[in-house]
Amino acid sequence: MGKQYYCDYCGRSFADGAENRKKHLVSAHHQKLRKAHYDMFKDAATILEENKLKRPCRKFHSEGYCEFGTNCKYSHLTQNDVRQLIEQANNEKLAGKKPRSELDIDSWLQTKILKMNQSSDNLPACPLNPVLPSILSSIPNLPPSLIPCTPSEFLSLSKNNRPQWG
Ligand SMILES: [Zn+2]
Ligand SMILES: [Zn+2]
Repeated sequence: MGKQYYCDYCGRSFADGAENRKKHLVSAHHQKLRKAHYDMFKDAATILEENKLKRPCRKFHSEGYCEFGTNCKYSHLTQNDVRQLIEQANNEKLAGKKPRSELDIDSWLQTKILKMNQSSDNLPACPLNPVLPSILSSIPNLPPSLIPCTPSEFLSLSKNNRPQWG
């Protein structure tokens, strides 16, 4: 039995050979699965960013095969792949902004929550814990309407001591 070439994206192996390999890599079937593979996990910009940190996999680029497949710590992207990804990343940037799917909404929400948590330190005091401005607190005999009430005071006021109007 001759050498076998295994394609990670298609989950298929076939008799190895420069001609076979070339034919497979340009086939619509392979291109589609390969794209789906990347789309499933991350956008092109992310892949490019990660790829920058990797050195090219010598084995993959010289033999067209690497047993580590997509888990390889070295880059399996060819110059052509990178060019396509840059194009794709630009398209995504243009099309971006609005969420594409429920998955994107989830991640959008997550970054939103993350941002909220990060910026909470810079927010003004929570309305439930009012702080008297220093100018006012220095004034003696402040009218009661200017003194901030505590949440419990406010709640008991609205529940029990509701003033009777009219
Ligand atoms: Zn393939
Ligand atoms: Zn590799």
